[in-house]
Amino acid sequence: MKSVDRHLTDILATVQPLAPLEVDLERAHGTVLAEDVASPVALPPFDNSAMDGYAVRAADVAGAPVVLPVIEDVAAGDSELRAMGPGMVTRIMTGAPVPAGADAVVPVEWTDGGTVRVTVHRPAPAGNAIRRSGEDVHAGEIVLREGSVIGPAQLGILAGVGRRRVLVRPRPRVVVISTGAELAEPGTSLGHGQIWESNSFMLAAAVQEAGGEVFRAGAVTDDPQRFLSTLEAQLVRADAVITSGGVSMGAYEPVKEALAPLGKVVFEKVAMQPGMPQGFGVVGDDDVPIFTLPGNPVSSFVSFVLFVEPALRKMRGLPEGPPRTVRATTTAYLRSPAGKRSYLRAVLSGDTVAPVVGQGSHQLAALASANSLVVVPEEVTELPEGAEVEVIPL
Ligand code: AMP
Ligand code: MG
Repeated sequence: MKSVDRHLTDILATVQPLAPLEVDLERAHGTVLAEDVASPVALPPFDNSAMDGYAVRAADVAGAPVVLPVIEDVAAGDSELRAMGPGMVTRIMTGAPVPAGADAVVPVEWTDGGTVRVTVHRPAPAGNAIRRSGEDVHAGEIVLREGSVIGPAQLGILAGVGRRRVLVRPRPRVVVISTGAELAEPGTSLGHGQIWESNSFMLAAAVQEAGGEVFRAGAVTDDPQRFLSTLEAQLVRADAVITSGGVSMGAYEPVKEALAPLGKVVFEKVAMQPGMPQGFGVVGDDDVPIFTLPGNPVSSFVSFVLFVEPALRKMRGLPEGPPRTVRATTTAYLRSPAGKRSYLRAVLSGDTVAPVVGQGSHQLAALASANSLVVVPEEVTELPEGAEVEVIPL
């Protein structure tokens, strides 16, 4: 049997980062920056008020309380300002440019709020409540580096430096296809021998959380021809394909039957539990990577975490590697088959981890109650309560 590590290495050797492309800001969320972005101007671009109040000369309010004439109002966005002579003040709003001649802002709370004349109750030091030009960013300064994941704050600064379009590696477009003659769409009634199809929903959400864009092609029956025609129809919009089911040792294994003869997808046994039957390769003229995951829901999910997510990271241009792990102490005795690496569903809290009841690869409710996977190495068959273990947080 092939090792988990070897299987991931093979996958990462095939999968390549997606080519960068320029997108509008509206489409940039969740993508990965493929250029260094610099600000064309200083930010803030001009000295402006940090508060609602009065622009003053600090020297004029040093002897507060004082009464001074208000020469005009400036609001955020005003551009034509009168310079202030000695003994004058300008009523000013947050974000408005500081008029020439002023060197401090007195917050409205320190005054009587007058509009013709104002009584200033407290002195303000020079520079008070003024946001200086260039305080956040210098003109020409790089604000985001290539390889940054664009989240809300990163989108904010991209817009803040005036960018409308950015060069990014896009979210990988991933098609999810489930197979199985027994599968019924949730929301419909179940016939005898049927189960509701769950993998495509679970895998689609996992793709989105991993930064991909997903197309759920739904479920196809166990007919290899039907599977192939669905696959062909979906390939046009795919950077990767995930299938579930139809790769085991039984009869009616449509994914294996359809793809094995093409010679570019390898079906093999990986030394892991759950998730032993795995397939990976490429399909179509563009050699689109395809992950053929086992159908048991927990197997399918664990396979995604171990193999698909790292591949999606590489496609996005992020550093490659296996899932992140932490160390914790198990609160219960653990068992694992010899020769296979186990991924036991568990609840991690602080530095302890408790396996959940229901470790079968069909036990989806148990998976849904877990927040982590305890990794038990191939050669270890049992671990006592209190042993230190490696854990993949989910
Ligand atoms: P297979 O890998 O096709 O042999 O399926 C293994 C087990 O997983 C069977 O019990 C299937 O009914 C179940 N299964 C396969 N695909 C799905 C799916 N999309 N949703 C829920 N269960 C599934
Ligand atoms: Mg099946």
